[in-house]
Amino acid sequence: MNQWTLQAVAQVESCFKEKFAIPRQPGLTPSAEAVVRLLPPFDHPDTVRGLEAFSHLWLVFVFHGTADQGWRPTVRPPKLGGNARTGVFASRSTFRPNPVGLSVVKLLGIDTDHGVSLRVGGADLLDGTPVLDIKPYLAYADAVVGANSGYADTGADPLPVAFTLEADAMLQELAPSHPHLRELIREVLAQDPRPGYADDPARDYGMRLYDLNIRWRCDQRGAVVHEINYA
Ligand code: SAM
Repeated sequence: MNQWTLQAVAQVESCFKEKFAIPRQPGLTPSAEAVVRLLPPFDHPDTVRGLEAFSHLWLVFVFHGTADQGWRPTVRPPKLGGNARTGVFASRSTFRPNPVGLSVVKLLGIDTDHGVSLRVGGADLLDGTPVLDIKPYLAYADAVVGANSGYADTGADPLPVAFTLEADAMLQELAPSHPHLRELIREVLAQDPRPGYADDPARDYGMRLYDLNIRWRCDQRGAVVHEINYA
């Protein structure tokens, strides 16, 4: 048998409301907290009994935002500048024969008062992502010391991030409702979400975080956030 029907066990509520600017792997933006809300009939406290003893989780999920676009045998990883091609199975591309992703996230808390929800940190997930499975991360087996990460081995230097006075004023106004926003924006833009092959200093970029639109430009010194508005 080569075909299975899988059922989502949970759904992600994430600050990332669109694909653009989501970090390319988990753990790169620790301030990006998300809620993994278990769906019926899996939303019983029994299903997560003992999970509180683990610091990290594996989430197996569906790339629901791109699943309808199919897959290609080769892809152009951003790590290679967006031009060179590798095989889809030599990549972490979302455009896969089975649109399944895998992310390790930090477990911040478990709420079993109303259904079951897991608060996690460092997620690289789009809002609404269906989760197929949740497994505890086992450091003794899952962490491979000295592993070779091929073309994805070298982390780029983080991009410096600054805020204009206007953006800074907006951050202060939003602080009561969005206490970690400044740090989150810093972490997201430090990854330089611009496509590797785009390098136009005059270009204005925008992303949606929570219920907000964030706009920035890049010059030789780094990214400058100049606008933060309600979406
Ligand atoms: N860590 C996962 C993996 O290795 O399978 C995902 C890696 S993938 C390169 C990360 C990108 O997937 C993010 O930058 C975001 O653009 C995209 N993404 C995250 N959640 C998604 C979803 N539900 N549907 C489509 N794309 C998604």
